[in-house]
Amino acid sequence: MILASPERIAAVRTAAHAVTPTVLDRTAEIAAVASPTGDEAAKSTLVEQLFQSEGLACEQDDLGDVVATIPGHLPGGGSVGSLLIAAHLDTVFPRETPLTITRSEDRLAGPGVGDNSVAVAVVTKLHEVFARAGERPAVDILVTGNVGEEGLGNLRGIREVMSARPGIGAVIALEGHNLGRVTHVAVGSRRYRISAQGPGGHSWGDFGRPNAIQGLAKLIAELDAIPLPRSPKTTLNVGHIEGGVSINTIAPSASCLLDLRSTDETALHRLSERVTRLTARGGRNNGITFAIDTIGERPAGVVPVDSPIVRMAAWALGALDVEPSFDASSTDANVPIAAGIPAVCIGLTTGGNVHRTDEFIDVAPVASGIAQVALLALAVSEALAARAL
Ligand SMILES: [Zn+2]
Repeated sequence: MILASPERIAAVRTAAHAVTPTVLDRTAEIAAVASPTGDEAAKSTLVEQLFQSEGLACEQDDLGDVVATIPGHLPGGGSVGSLLIAAHLDTVFPRETPLTITRSEDRLAGPGVGDNSVAVAVVTKLHEVFARAGERPAVDILVTGNVGEEGLGNLRGIREVMSARPGIGAVIALEGHNLGRVTHVAVGSRRYRISAQGPGGHSWGDFGRPNAIQGLAKLIAELDAIPLPRSPKTTLNVGHIEGGVSINTIAPSASCLLDLRSTDETALHRLSERVTRLTARGGRNNGITFAIDTIGERPAGVVPVDSPIVRMAAWALGALDVEPSFDASSTDANVPIAAGIPAVCIGLTTGGNVHRTDEFIDVAPVASGIAQVALLALAVSEALAARAL
């Protein structure tokens, strides 16, 4: 590994410890600002101010993605590309959720502290870790607070950041929880709303007319019977259903939400085509009209476990005595992975109750989480500059 010198590793660890108190303060400050997916503006403004207060050149796009630059030895990434480190700004919590953040000696608790406020706080202090450790990255590092990662955000933030910057050569996505986890398999998804419409009528007087709920139920049964490959793991879930008017009305309308996932883009494509075909055929229910609308699409892909960026991620954890584990998940890293750009998603600390209002993170591992990001970023930058990625 390029960065294997014990002195450099020790200097990065010391620097990470030094910025940890500020990172924790900022985690609480960031978590206290509401940022439901699609409504992140207030948090974008806060994060832009934080970058500016650090003296970093920074810009915000129309979606609310905030991108700052940590200058490297090769400005603009040279011809080898720059490294993007992405931390999503949005949370799963609706705007009206009380954002009470509590702190004890060993924990920080409150909605969104780990997912993903601590990651956003870390990217605002990463340049200081480098400076304190006497490091300058080999290529420019772009750090973001980006929108649209959760729920139906459809990864629109990172898509926009990357399409506006074709020179990005590698990506590290950050999630606050799961220190030690290296996500190198991008679980792709297709999400649909299927709607059924019929003529309606009185349950007794008009009996015999087609019923939208019963028609939709038959279609769902057909979808449920589609055989799915176990490898590559491919799944189908109807997560929500609604419809009808009253108990004695032939339901004129019904709809459901369908989530299809796979680690393999071809398997996902095949499954979504089959779902679309079955829906178009109307589930063999004469008199009911079905419509299918795409409400979400995340691309799938794999970075091989023995590829340089995954090995570097494992090395950075090993240098900090953290056992790496490798997994498949749906994160901002899906976008670069599907585009063939080396990328991983890594965690920063331990904690629990993710996506709940009693979410918490442990304070003690945060310094290691920060050191891990810095070591990996330096190693990936050097590999990019050496065209060894
Ligand atoms: Zn997250």
